[in-house]
Amino acid sequence: MSERFDEGDLVGVLTTEPLGRPLDYKAPEGGCGLGDLVEVPLGPRRVLGCVWGAGAGGFDPARIRPVSRVLEATPLRDEMRTFLTRMADYTLTPLPLMLRLATRAPDLGAGPALRRVLRATGREPARETDARLRVMDALDVFGGAAVTSTELAAEAGVSSAVIKGLVKAGVLAEEDAPRDQPYPRLDPSRAGKDLSGDQAAASEALRAAVASGRYGTTLLKGVTGSGKTEVYLEAVAEALRHDRQALVLLPEIALTAGFLERVEARFGARPAEWHSGVTSTERRRLWRMISDGGAQLVVGARSALFLPFRDLGLIVVDEEHDTSYKQEEGVYYNARDMAVMRASICGAQVVLASATPALETWVNADTGKYARLDLTSRFGVSDLPEMRAIDMRAEKLPPNRWISETLATQVEARVAAREQALLFLNRRGYAPVTICRACGHQIGCDDCDARMVEHRFLKRLVCHQCGASKPVPEACPACSVEGKMAAVGPGVERMAEEVAERFPGARVAVLSSDLFGSARALKEAIQTISDGGADIIIGTQIVAKGHNFPLLTLVGVIDADLGLQGSDLRAAERTFQLMRQVAGRAGRAERAGVALLQTHQPEHPVIRAILTGHEEDFWRAEATERRMAGTPPYGRMAGIILSHPDVARVFDFAGELARRDGPLRAIGAQVWGPAPAPIARVRGRHRVRLLIKAERSAPLQAALAEWVAQLKPPPNMRVAIDIDPQSFL
Ligand code: ADP
Ligand code: ZN
Repeated sequence: MSERFDEGDLVGVLTTEPLGRPLDYKAPEGGCGLGDLVEVPLGPRRVLGCVWGAGAGGFDPARIRPVSRVLEATPLRDEMRTFLTRMADYTLTPLPLMLRLATRAPDLGAGPALRRVLRATGREPARETDARLRVMDALDVFGGAAVTSTELAAEAGVSSAVIKGLVKAGVLAEEDAPRDQPYPRLDPSRAGKDLSGDQAAASEALRAAVASGRYGTTLLKGVTGSGKTEVYLEAVAEALRHDRQALVLLPEIALTAGFLERVEARFGARPAEWHSGVTSTERRRLWRMISDGGAQLVVGARSALFLPFRDLGLIVVDEEHDTSYKQEEGVYYNARDMAVMRASICGAQVVLASATPALETWVNADTGKYARLDLTSRFGVSDLPEMRAIDMRAEKLPPNRWISETLATQVEARVAAREQALLFLNRRGYAPVTICRACGHQIGCDDCDARMVEHRFLKRLVCHQCGASKPVPEACPACSVEGKMAAVGPGVERMAEEVAERFPGARVAVLSSDLFGSARALKEAIQTISDGGADIIIGTQIVAKGHNFPLLTLVGVIDADLGLQGSDLRAAERTFQLMRQVAGRAGRAERAGVALLQTHQPEHPVIRAILTGHEEDFWRAEATERRMAGTPPYGRMAGIILSHPDVARVFDFAGELARRDGPLRAIGAQVWGPAPAPIARVRGRHRVRLLIKAERSAPLQAALAEWVAQLKPPPNMRVAIDIDPQSFL
């Protein structure tokens, strides 16, 4: 296939409209090339598209319309088009949706925007006023970089009239410059930290891998605080030395702030950022710069995987086990797995960093598909915390109290020693259930099958599924009896009450994602805690992730059994990961830490594995169980989620689909269900789930596509396919 098409040649253009295959157009005047981003007429509209190949032909040539125009943006490279196609095949996503993911930047069609900037002409001002001198000083601050009149006036603290005066006097000249500026260069030759023995060995191995210029994936496993970040920054440095780009994926925006500072300390400048909090101007700049080579390192959320890197040499997936890498709406994908796919196409290295890797990753390392590097000790003097169970069967707790005497004694000791204690409870809000003491009615969401959670801070009941909220009613909506609504069970807000009563002198901070209006407010709260501004911290899983609290020496897990209930395939793995991560918060600086787990089943194998710290034993046992059951990663699974406002219709449709299982049986796969999905109703739509189980080597995607295509969904029926689903039931 030729890379160029001359005017009038038939080209296949993939658009972002839901049309399935590329459509035929004629190449415009001047021709076009493979991967060019273009505008094409579609009915009465003009839409964004990408030249995907030669036209299919077979239509009346006279009726084929020409491409309206070729955009000034960099074409999508072969590597990107291959990635989008393979990912579409893997996730069974229509290609136009994939193209949308890859073109999510504003003004792609606009061409490089210009802005008016100022530059010093070298002429001295004839009349030197104080304000004018300040402007000249401010120019030095920008060090010759293009600067707008507004920026210069702000820096100098003068009015725009002063700037205009200087232009008139010929001291400053105005000119047009591209609006999107390259990012400051990162300098990999600056010295990094002195690495310890196993850090140095790990960084050496990663650098060699990056230098090879080939694809490879490495699990970098090390307890929290062992220096994984320091080590993978050396891999980033190596990529930059080879003039290749690097991408670091992080699970939480709140984590990026600390990371940006570390990058600046290592490389002398900040990296580009890509996540939902980035302005559209900045998105446009990043999209253009990353494809022109004007950005070397991007720190971002999972969608950064679809940026048009000019030459991507390294992808780091930090906290690779984190569930937020799995997107479960629109396009269903796991960013960790897609990072591996993308890297294998463009000859990049992948580093999967975690203290508690996903079982899939552990198995891939165990079988040699991935390399594995271990950092075995924490950096510096601090040891991993000692971990113990508090057997709740032996503790006497008054009603509506959740902190045992044993734990309380330890907390008091920390407060007295001016150290910090963290009480961990993975439940937002005040109480998970609101019940009527007269009739037993529980308040649920009007649109979802979820109980509403009381948030006393907001003075409302909130649905954690759809976000709907309402005030706590005076009278029971079922029996109308007044004054009998009662909160049942603890959430972090309720823990705060108990803590205030038990430890009256202590300063308490509650860390829960919904208590902060912005990522910045959350970041400030974390900083305050880090600086010693609280004695007792009460937190949800948000505290489990990478924050550094040097004064923290005690972690108390209020309910270690919470995640073990339910029959989710990953319950054991998740509990293990979360508990180890939370415990890793204690004793990060010079002081040793202790983690205490309140549990009703101290002999449970998962709790035992957490306490003993025999991690490899845990993964090996989990892996054996999965192998016996033929579940991932030893077997393959897919979830089909059907939804419709009418419960009978969605069950009928799902039942019909389940009966026509010929294409699935042909590959030896089984269909389970239909069953109500984990959340059976969301925003008024009833959700039904079919679960498909197949052997590892079975051609699952092709069979699924054939199977689903047998039935045309009736109006308003949504059919979503989730390959490698994360949550079960
Ligand atoms: P991880 O990513 O494994 O949680 P980090 O890389 O964040 O660990 O390291 C934990 C802390 O120890 C950080 O503050 C880091 O700067 C520091 N640290 C790690 N290794 C070194 C080193 N070789 N020299 C100096 N400080 C280090
Ligand atoms: Zn709801």
